[in-house]
Amino acid sequence: MSTKAIGLLSGGLDSTLAVKVIQEQGIEVIALNFMSPFCACTSKNAGCKSEAVKVSNEFGLKIKCLYHGEEYLEMLRKPRHGYGRALNPCIDCRIMMFKKAGEYMREVGASFVFTGEVIGQRPMSQRRDTMRVIEKESGLEGYILRPLCARLMPETIPEKEGIVDREKLLKINGRSRKEQIRLAGEYHIEDFPCSSGGCLLTEKGFAGKVKDLLDHSGVFRVQDARLLRIGRHFRLSDHCRVILGRDETENTALEKSVEPGDLKFILAGHNGPFGLARGTDSASWAPLISRIVVRYSSAPKDEAVEVKFSRGGEGSEESLMAQAISESQLDGLRIKSFEHR
Ligand code: SF4
Repeated sequence: MSTKAIGLLSGGLDSTLAVKVIQEQGIEVIALNFMSPFCACTSKNAGCKSEAVKVSNEFGLKIKCLYHGEEYLEMLRKPRHGYGRALNPCIDCRIMMFKKAGEYMREVGASFVFTGEVIGQRPMSQRRDTMRVIEKESGLEGYILRPLCARLMPETIPEKEGIVDREKLLKINGRSRKEQIRLAGEYHIEDFPCSSGGCLLTEKGFAGKVKDLLDHSGVFRVQDARLLRIGRHFRLSDHCRVILGRDETENTALEKSVEPGDLKFILAGHNGPFGLARGTDSASWAPLISRIVVRYSSAPKDEAVEVKFSRGGEGSEESLMAQAISESQLDGLRIKSFEHR
């Protein structure tokens, strides 16, 4: 029976190279991909998952994709090891990933888990001390191999047992990507779209919206997290949040996201954004929301125009006349970038 290993595969360059290094030792690799509402690689055509699937197909790997759902969002509210430079709970996030990878390793009878991590590449989760914490708390001490920097790390169990030849592993470290790019050329790997392993939680603008939602909702749902990726976001009260589409695609996405109880806004007679208001006191804010909708429309800004609104799940429609909100008033309603206090 061949030796199997679980490779955490994002589809980015580092995890792809790690797969190559392990495959070259004659070990069967099973790819494991984690998706979350915060993957910055997700674009219209190619998200992290599709990149990982593409790499798996090219290398003939079996792949399993797991989704970080409600459990992840709960962790995000209060990560035991805190946040990085924005709202990224990297240590807890890695612990969660490795716990799941460990379960899968045991399920399929694999001997170890490996990643494309490089020591010193990321300030929070790829430091020697935090790597140790992550291994310990995920219950995978000695079973996590990092082929790209393994020779700079203590020997792992698969190396000690002779399953993996340590001499054929690498010793890359630091933030420079020169060596990875050179290796990509050697292995004829092209087209690595997500080489930075993008995560929206590291972006302060996005993190501001996450923080706002965490502060104002008892339960952080996956569908709420997905909505953070689109539109302009405003906070009107503790119980009312407004999102406006920035283009046709976002307008359509917002329209599809309307839930019973939400208020939806559109302009009558002019091009403008679709507006979605969520929260228990949204109706009392309808005049102000209408003014925001007019501000982002093609309607004249110096006269009142008609805005229609209705409640999701109900047929009846109301309308009111509204003039564009001033920039200074609007500024106070925008959800701001996240800053550590
Ligand atoms: S950057 Fe994002 S995905 Fe990566 S470890 Fe940190 S929180 Fe997790």
